[in-house]
Formats: sequence, structure tokens, C-alpha cells
Amino acid sequence: MLQLLAATSNKNKIREFQEMFSEAGNNVLIVSPATFGGLPDIVEDGTTFEENSAIKAQKASHYADMAAFADDSGLEVDALNGEPGINSARYAGPDATDADRIAKLLENLKGKTNRKARFVCVISLAYRGNLVAQFRGEVSGTITDAPKGSNGFGYDPVFIPDGYDKTFAELGPEVKDAISHRGKAFALAAEFVKQELSTMDDFEFV
Ligand code: IMP
Repeated sequence: MLQLLAATSNKNKIREFQEMFSEAGNNVLIVSPATFGGLPDIVEDGTTFEENSAIKAQKASHYADMAAFADDSGLEVDALNGEPGINSARYAGPDATDADRIAKLLENLKGKTNRKARFVCVISLAYRGNLVAQFRGEVSGTITDAPKGSNGFGYDPVFIPDGYDKTFAELGPEVKDAISHRGKAFALAAEFVKQELSTMDDFEFV
């Protein structure tokens, strides 16, 4: 079985990745950083989702000496010129909660009729500090006037994906994983892992 380190301390993301990998039926074990005491802080000083996810995956694979993947994701809102974008996690300051970030987003969108937005996710795969591959997934939708639903995390309660009339937080994990930015990027990454990496005996197998 191939062990892949998920280079994130976000428990929600690790749960989504574990769900997706078990559904994909891959012979892959997703390892959480918590299993070896966590990763050192990694400074995300890139200017794109691609750069930041590569930084996280490369540093984690070097530090843990195993194949690692990382995602960098966020919400781009058209009426806010693409904000919060790569700053989605820090949109309302370092100690803010999901509720604070949602409140700031809705405040900044007050009176705006264009509610179009998209979630973006870039997954990077790295080994021994080198970038192996990157995969991008996007899902388009609209931002609601008020939060609805209790599933998921982050901006899920205010995002209605195109083709639906409920927020990600109302739709729940099965629908979200199937159509989300992370689900799409993940499907590409899982296919790659299945096809290419499982034939490389250089990787860490147990
Ligand atoms: P990062 O990828 O860890 O830098 O953080 C991305 C931030 O974007 C998260 O903390 C959330 O605020 C937001 N975000 C990313 N993906 C999702 C999602 O699937 N649902 C809701 N919010 C998300």
C-alpha cells in the first residue's frame, strides 16, 4: 500500500481526502501529519494557488521523507475582483472564525447584485522535496445573502453551486465531494497516483 502524507493540519480537509480516497478504491493510505507529531509551520508566501500548494507539498515531503500532497484552495468572488482568493483562510484576520469570514464576505457584498463566485483547489504532489505533478479543480456558483446549513466548513454555508438550489453546507458531503473543486482536483490526482506512482518502487510502501 502506498502511503501519502496529506500536508495539511486542517482536519476537515483530511477527512474529505480520506473519504475521497476510500471511494476511489485506491491502494493508498492517507497519513495525517498528527501521526508523527505534526509538520513545522510552513510559510505560504506564494502569489497563486499553484505556488502555495507546491510550497506546502515540497516542504512536507522533504521534512517527512515520504511522498506528500497538499492542496491550496479558496473562494474567488467576481464582484470583489477575485477576493478573498489565496487569502480566503486569513480574510478576517489570523484568529477569526469561519463565521467571522462569512460575515466579512457578506458585508463586502452588501448591495451587489453580481453574486458569482468559484471555489478553486490546486493539489500538488511532491516527493523528496521535488514537485511531481499539479491538478486544478474549480466549481462555479453564487453567494447567498445569509448562511444556510451545517455541513462542511469555511464558506460552505454561503455557496450555492451552479445547478443546485442549496448551499454546500445543506447539500452534505456526498454531493459536495462529487462536484466540488477539491473533489475534481482530487479525482485527477487519484487517477495519476493510480496510473503512475503505484508503479514506482522508489516510493514508500508498507
Ligand atoms: P488553505 O487552502 O488552507 O489556504 O485555506 C483555504 C480557505 O479557503 C479555507 O480555510 C476556507 O476558508 C476556504 N475554503 C477552501 N475550500 C473550501 C471548501 O471546500 N468549502 C468552504 N471553504 C473552503
